[in-house]
Amino acid sequence: MSNIRVRFAPSPTGMLHLGGLRTALYDYIFAKQQGGKFILRIEDTDRNRYVEGAVENLVNSLQMMGIDFDEGPGKDGGFGPYFQSERLDIYHKYIEELLENGFAYKCFCTKEEIEKMREKAIAKKENPKYDGTCRNLTPEEVQAKIDAGMPYVVRLKIPENRMFTFYDKIRGKVEIDSSLIDDQILLKTDGYPTYHLAAVVDDHLMEISHVIRGEEWLSSTPKHIYLYEVFGWKAPTWVHLPLILNTDKSKLSKRHGDFSVEGFMGKGYLKEALVNFIALLGWHPSSDEEIFNLGKMIEKFSFKRVNKAGAIFDNTKLDWMNSWYLRNLDMEYIAEVSEPFFIKVVKDISDKDKYRNIIKIGRDYAQTLVELAEWAKPFYFDLEFTKEDKEILNNENSQAVFKHYLERFSEKDVWTLDELKDLVKKSPKELNIKGKNYYFPLRLVFFGKTSGPGVGEIIEILGIEESKKRLQKVLI
Ligand code: GLU
Repeated sequence: MSNIRVRFAPSPTGMLHLGGLRTALYDYIFAKQQGGKFILRIEDTDRNRYVEGAVENLVNSLQMMGIDFDEGPGKDGGFGPYFQSERLDIYHKYIEELLENGFAYKCFCTKEEIEKMREKAIAKKENPKYDGTCRNLTPEEVQAKIDAGMPYVVRLKIPENRMFTFYDKIRGKVEIDSSLIDDQILLKTDGYPTYHLAAVVDDHLMEISHVIRGEEWLSSTPKHIYLYEVFGWKAPTWVHLPLILNTDKSKLSKRHGDFSVEGFMGKGYLKEALVNFIALLGWHPSSDEEIFNLGKMIEKFSFKRVNKAGAIFDNTKLDWMNSWYLRNLDMEYIAEVSEPFFIKVVKDISDKDKYRNIIKIGRDYAQTLVELAEWAKPFYFDLEFTKEDKEILNNENSQAVFKHYLERFSEKDVWTLDELKDLVKKSPKELNIKGKNYYFPLRLVFFGKTSGPGVGEIIEILGIEESKKRLQKVLI
């Protein structure tokens, strides 16, 4: 049994976003590849940022993407609880240990005092970190303040003049000077630990072998390493994933739009495309291949091939990938996942043969399921024509084409697709009307657009009855 254990440790502050999905995906792929365990831990110690329903959204979104965790809420693997808010006693015990051994101290500075400190430091162009006012209080001074009922936090005593060196699997050797590191708050006035203390304690107790997370946590790593050191614990392997950037190289953030997994699913992206696209935000296989399902990712993935540089989020590429999956996944599956999108747009899809035929043809014409349902509208609703359309429809040639089709349809009611295709192919010669003059009016009268799928296929979906109706409507 492998001792590889990785965790995805989101804070329930909102919906699962693409950055989080990538971390979870790399965790999952790595764990599967190494025969290890993937753990979901909910980091909910920041009560101010807690969002109701966020945990459910995180769990559902992961499940929707096919990323199953081995241990986590509702799946105890002997290392629970997996909600940090249920582990407060554990953290308090370790805080006490740090205080007793002089690695942490109680700080009574008020918010206003801290703010002033920051302003002063910024004015002097210094690093705006805590100035250490409470670092050297005597035990008596501390007791007096507690007796006076002053609230306090517990801070980590970062040693001075020290270079923190660690190895990151993606970045190699990283060195950060202690002068850049704040005396991190470990325990807040509300009695809850901060992320830094809770994550280190849990990563240790949960026997996490690799901490895989976003680059934004790189600068916090020295604080974590120092905690491992003073507790006398072995630190995990660090893996900091590159930032995800917009095409203009700015950091992908909420301000740029909705980057939640649910948002993308709502826009009609397939989970297969989303997972494939996300996997390539930082990682590239040694070949030029771009299409990967989860199984293939597990086979090929390696941290050696994850870039340091920020990964550009290119929606055009996602669209391309989505249309690839739309065209190449099983037709029945596409029909199934398209249903909610169709129900929203066309309401009634009870004619399943018609619906399936639409999917079969339409998936070549759309990039997302939203587009697919929009594309299908002409098959469900009466057409509306513009002035330009009417010019085409009223044209003498067009009218001749329409009459010809009506005549042929009056001969019999049941047509196979082959017969329809034959009709479409042979009529130009019989009518002596070719090319645009023939195809534009036909597509327009049946489908509402001059371009689109084969006329025979369109008629098959509409049925002869409806096709006749559409022809009669435009006859003059
Ligand atoms: N709770 C942190 C977050 O929301 C996790 C960071 C980590 O993985 O260490 O991003």
